[in-house]
Order: sequence, then structure tokens, then C-alpha cells
Amino acid sequence: MDFTGKRVLLTGAGKGIGRVLAEMLLARGAVVVALTRSAADVAELRAMGAEAHQVDLADAVATRAAARAACPCDYLISNAGTTELQSFLETTTEAFDHLMAVNTRAPMIVAQEYARDVIARGAKGAIVNVSSVASFVGIPDHAAYCASKAGVDGLMRVMAKELGPQGIRVNNVNPTVTLTPMAVKAWSDPAKSAGMLNRIPLGRFAESAEVGEVVLFLLSDAASMMNGVSLPVDGGYMIA
Ligand code: NDP
Repeated sequence: MDFTGKRVLLTGAGKGIGRVLAEMLLARGAVVVALTRSAADVAELRAMGAEAHQVDLADAVATRAAARAACPCDYLISNAGTTELQSFLETTTEAFDHLMAVNTRAPMIVAQEYARDVIARGAKGAIVNVSSVASFVGIPDHAAYCASKAGVDGLMRVMAKELGPQGIRVNNVNPTVTLTPMAVKAWSDPAKSAGMLNRIPLGRFAESAEVGEVVLFLLSDAASMMNGVSLPVDGGYMIA
């Protein structure tokens, strides 16, 4: 998939899946417009040749301003996400609100600004949100995370209906555990990861590039008839 000259707005490009996506897009000719939090990551992304803006996506006002400053863009990937491990009974409202702000509300705000600009220009576009298999199943200690990812799947379906007629396709990818810093935080305990791993017919967790390839497929014209899909990238986890 060739993205030569295409401006791709990418959140959470600093680490993990987002960093790998930035590398893949730059290698395929895209102009990467990154929104991410850590100053060190912003500097590294700029050194790689990306445009990078520092923003805390938990801050709604700052997120909207950063998304506006990043436009115009041809495509949007809302990848940034965070997690906090708490049992349901111990889930705090602070953690719940934070995860909803970063994982669900920020994709809405950034997509609003991206889509308004695409529509105003009379252009066409595509959005891919990085959701999770956690939107489909209940994972212990992930109450806020599961809720936030189910939220972004629901958001995507409404966006697909409302933006499709305007020429903007919207889809989600729903990865299983992917070997990134976030996964290490959530799955470093072998007792916990064994249950997850045993349910994956391919017998392993995902690599970031395996998620990235599916994101870029959904973004590209190769997926020109795909709209409103939550697509598992899970080695068969969801059929087990
Ligand atoms: P990482 O923690 O490795 O990277 C997340 C990136 O998002 C970082 O660059 C981080 O920046 C950025 N980010 C997080 N919070 C904010 C914020 N408030 N403002 C701005 N940027 C922020 O995560 P992954 O690469 O593993 O995850 C990427 C996406 O994939 C997430 O949406 C996640 O939920 C999803 N996912 C991940 C899975 C996995 O097993 N890894 C499985 C399924 C889905 P910083 O470090 O500076 O905070």
C-alpha cells in the first residue's frame, strides 16, 4: 500500500503500535502528523521525519486545538490508548474517567475536527480507530478499559453511518495482546497471560506490525467497500 504524499494524522505515535505505524507510513511515502504526549517521543518522531505535536489527549480542549492545528489530513488513525489494572469492585471514578477521556472521547474529538475539515474541502477520507478484543469480551481487572473500547466501537458505528455519505469510511481494528509497553504492563504475569494465550489458535500474541498492516489496509483504497467494521486481529481468539 502506497501512501505517497498523503498526510496521515496518527495519535499515540510515540511508542508501541503507534511508533511502528509511524515507521511503516514513513516508509510508504506518507507525511506522518503525530499527536502524542511525551516530549522525548515528539523529538524522536521529528528526527524520523514526522510532524509531531505534543498534547495530552485526556485534555479535551488541548486535544481539539491540536487536531485543528494538524489539519488538513487525508487520513486519521486514532491509536493512542491507555490502561489501568483494577478489579471491578476497586475501579475508581478517576481511572474510569481518565480511560474514557483518552480511549473514547479523544478519538471522537480528533475525528470531529478531521472530518469537518475533509468535508469543508470537498475531499474524501478514511478513519481507523485502534480498539481491542476487550470491546467484545470481559477481561478481569479491565472494567474501565473494556468499557472504553466498547465505547469506541459504538462511536465508530455511528461515525460510519453519518460520515459514509460524506465520503469518509470509518472502521476499527480490535487486536489481541500485542507485544508493546502497554502489554507488558497488563500481561507480564504468566499466570494471567496463559489463559489469554491458550485461547489463541495461532498460539502467540500479535506483533505491532501485524496490527499495523491491517490498519493500513482499512485506511487504504484497497478497503474501499469496508465501512463500520470492528475487525479482530487476534489469531482466532474470538472463535475460541
Ligand atoms: P503503548 O502504551 O505502547 O503506546 C501508547 C501510545 O499512546 C504512547 O505513545 C502514549 O504516549 C500515547 N498516549 C497514551 N496516553 C496518551 C495521552 N493521554 N495523550 C497523548 N498520548 C497518549 O500502547 P500500545 O501501542 O500497546 O497501544 C496502542 C493502542 O492499541 C491503544 O489504543 C491500545 O488500547 C490498543 N491495544 C493494545 C493492545 C496491546 O496488547 N498492546 C491490545 C489491543 C489494543 P506516552 O507514552 O507518552 O503516554
